Amino acid sequence: MATPAPHTEKPHVLFFPFPAQGHVKPALQLAKLLHHYHGFQVTFVHTEHNRRRLLRAHRPDALSGIPGFCFAAVPDGLPPSDVNASQDMAALLLSLETSVPHFRNLVADLPPVSCVISDIEHILIAAKEMGLRCVTFWTTGACAFMACQQCQQLVDMGILPFKEAEQLRNGYLDRTVVDWVPGMPKHIRLRDFPSFIRTTDPEDPMIKILLSSMACHRTTPSAIIFHTFDELERETIAAMAGILPPIYAVGPLPLLVSQIPVGGALDTLESNLSKENHACLEWLKGKGPNSVVYVSFGSIATLNKEQLVEFAWGLANSKQEFLWVIRDDLVNNGADEPANVLPPEFLEGTKARNYMTNWVPQDAVLQHEAIGAFLTHCGWNSMLESISAGVPMLCWPFGADQYTNSRYACSEWRVGMEISSDAKRDEVESAIREVMEGERGKEMKRTVMEWKEKATVAAMPGGPSWVNLEKVIREVICLAQ
Ligand code: UDP
Repeated sequence: MATPAPHTEKPHVLFFPFPAQGHVKPALQLAKLLHHYHGFQVTFVHTEHNRRRLLRAHRPDALSGIPGFCFAAVPDGLPPSDVNASQDMAALLLSLETSVPHFRNLVADLPPVSCVISDIEHILIAAKEMGLRCVTFWTTGACAFMACQQCQQLVDMGILPFKEAEQLRNGYLDRTVVDWVPGMPKHIRLRDFPSFIRTTDPEDPMIKILLSSMACHRTTPSAIIFHTFDELERETIAAMAGILPPIYAVGPLPLLVSQIPVGGALDTLESNLSKENHACLEWLKGKGPNSVVYVSFGSIATLNKEQLVEFAWGLANSKQEFLWVIRDDLVNNGADEPANVLPPEFLEGTKARNYMTNWVPQDAVLQHEAIGAFLTHCGWNSMLESISAGVPMLCWPFGADQYTNSRYACSEWRVGMEISSDAKRDEVESAIREVMEGERGKEMKRTVMEWKEKATVAAMPGGPSWVNLEKVIREVICLAQ
């Protein structure tokens, strides 16, 4: 199944990221950095489900690897269907247990592995049991990780799971302030915690998985690498120092990776599970600076028909030009064809000023000078990419860590404005007008440009994220066993 990496003295690092787009992409970026700048041998492991998706989206050589950088795939227990498996997170997490024996066999077949880098609990534990050094690469923010770390305490305090369904509605989550988390602002509410806590079921599989995975990351890895940068989450990172293994912040990875000269063999290695439409960049070329709203809800979030229609009319009524990523499976997990849900009058009325497509090269889109704002679900990668490009955000968190990310973007970093979860077209329209033309929009733009500068400095040669990367290599990954 694996093309064995050549046996040399170079450290051999095995990456096995959680098999969802937002984890695989930054993991491949980190792997490329270790290979290009430090000469590491890399084995990058996908699940078979994702391998099939990658091969459908790209030329076969996207997974053939290059000298010293090979791909492997292990069974994942999922049925061989085309469906985007990341939408059922609990099922995906549980199915990953079936990958563990295959992972062990793979390691036994490969040249000696110096370090396993993963965010999957079972893989980290298996690696440690096999006597391998392991490191967590956490692909979401330190703030959401810190919130997840508090869940055991919420259980011990009798808050989780919630006693009544009413607590999940009627503003209870908004009203309940959690002011005791080290390194987090005093105004953080239960509403800002990752959505996994929103349950009344004592047997909820996500809560169980969350508790055991948080305990695993405290005790199993030799270090935790975070995809963030020191200045963005300084207080949270400092507070974590006492409770977690050594922490290293190495982001924003797109800015670090962009320093690898283009045109090299690494460019052929793909992490996009869907085929990118590059023609949207041509469409953007003709547009004025800061004139286009970019809309994307990431790789997992799904909308119901009503939500799609309300966003559509909000965009139409704002009179702004927009580039909208509408995945084929965006509406009700793909049960509804987006083209059949969008009203014909909307399509006809906006055709001169919209571009809608299934998947785009998002980094390049956000870096384009035409983009004036990003209507986002607040996935961590999307937020870092937006901050790195100096693009203010309209935040519509959908689930998982996105509530925490949105709260930080809006209240701490002041680069975003939240839209209600049940937003109707008028709210969407006025939020778009505000971010594109209003005073608040101008203020957010100024602030996000300051953050862009800080992100750029973090990612400059010799900047904090490079220094942290070199430190984790020296202090952990390359340490003699
Ligand atoms: N992305 C992309 N093209 C798209 C939409 C998303 O390349 O059309 C990328 C985006 O750049 C980001 C990732 O997919 O790196 C999504 O990760 P994120 O953490 O933002 O959200 P998730 O998909 O995990 O909810």
